[in-house]
Amino acid sequence: MKFILTRELGRLCKWLRILGFDTEYYNQDNMSSLIIQALREERIILTRNKKLISHQGIKVIEIKEDLIKNQLVEVLKALKIHPASETMFTRCIICNQNLINIDKQILKDKVPEYVFNTQKNFVFCPNCKRIYWQGTHWGNVERILREINH
Ligand SMILES: [Zn+2]
Repeated sequence: MKFILTRELGRLCKWLRILGFDTEYYNQDNMSSLIIQALREERIILTRNKKLISHQGIKVIEIKEDLIKNQLVEVLKALKIHPASETMFTRCIICNQNLINIDKQILKDKVPEYVFNTQKNFVFCPNCKRIYWQGTHWGNVERILREINH
């Protein structure tokens, strides 16, 4: 299941990536090229844009909620899906690339010493070169997921 989000849904985009969904962020105003991309890549459009919502022939989900937690519930309910723990933390939050496991020893001088000494698993993005580990970027993810799974 792949998504493309319009520009007002930046936070939701980040969260869908954290859950492991292939999620593109469309931050331009040209809605016809958004539709073309959605059709070509078979992406579901998530938006608040009324014109898109009434457009025929594309898969669109209207996001009505304001809070990020409720927005996530809205998407998951509309599609009857549950986030799977094995796909979480597999995608770069910034550029949507699949993350790659990285040997900890390589990172000795690249992450803070405390992090190096306390974390076991590191992954990195081959595109933007960001390094991720549990507990920083992903701090409150588990808690939010417990709440939305209720
Ligand atoms: Zn990246």
